[in-house]
Amino acid sequence: MMFGIILTLFIAWKIYEYAYYKGESFDKLKRSLNNYIVSCNELNEHIEELKETYSEVRKINYGTAQLNDASRYNFKRKEQLKAKKSEYIHECSASVCKNAEIQPFKYLCKYFNIKSDEESLENFENVLNNFAAAEEGKQLLSNELEKIKESIKNDVPFLIRTINMKKFMLKLGFKVIDFSTLYFPVYTFRYVSPGGNKSTNCDIKLDINNLNNFVEYFSGIVKFKKSAAGQRALMTSKLREKIKQRDNYTCQKCELSTNDERNLLLEIDHIMPISKGGMSTEENLQTLCWKCNRTKGAKVNS
Ligand SMILES: [Zn+2]
Repeated sequence: MMFGIILTLFIAWKIYEYAYYKGESFDKLKRSLNNYIVSCNELNEHIEELKETYSEVRKINYGTAQLNDASRYNFKRKEQLKAKKSEYIHECSASVCKNAEIQPFKYLCKYFNIKSDEESLENFENVLNNFAAAEEGKQLLSNELEKIKESIKNDVPFLIRTINMKKFMLKLGFKVIDFSTLYFPVYTFRYVSPGGNKSTNCDIKLDINNLNNFVEYFSGIVKFKKSAAGQRALMTSKLREKIKQRDNYTCQKCELSTNDERNLLLEIDHIMPISKGGMSTEENLQTLCWKCNRTKGAKVNS
């Protein structure tokens, strides 16, 4: 009896839902939101591209990470297979593993063959710059979606918006934001005892906080060629914020600001690109909105 009622209600709901999404009012709403949908999805795609920065850097410069087999004797666990494929794992002695925990950055540079030159520093700054923009972008995009939801609330039937708003947004065509931070690279020092019974890991995750600290640390050991050490600024989160503030949170190209669009993603751009000899000095940095920065990037690369 109870089951019958639930089943009937469920079927009734499904029919109602189906009819709504096939109906004219939904279609009209979808068409009226088209510009927002396209724009939000473009930003979503852009964020995903920003997350790729590190793997691109790896391909260009650091293809030489080494894997030491020294302590894998008799090691019969599943991780062994994974370890073979990963260039982010360094098999090492117990003491190296322990020391890596105490001085992570020092050991990261040493055992993963990160050259202490200016080019490496620029690459890490670029990674930080893009990762920070990706993290900020996710939040702003999410705010924007909430804003859109709020603004169309009265156009969406009560049942649809109460029971499954998520589906509603997907039906409109908005892509889901991937909030995971799994894209942050993780470096692992791993000790496995000769018998394979004991194992210790030391993971260094290059998240925003660690990248900021790493760039600061790294600048201290870099042998500068292009510029004198004190001549250039470090592209840390602090500097990003400073440049945005200096530029009044306004895109220096299209002049759109966060006053016009509360959830506008602003990025920091090198006026003269690093690839063309530009430096990270405050005069060579400007604020661009993500759209203008993306267009500029495409032009420089082609
Ligand atoms: Zn712009």
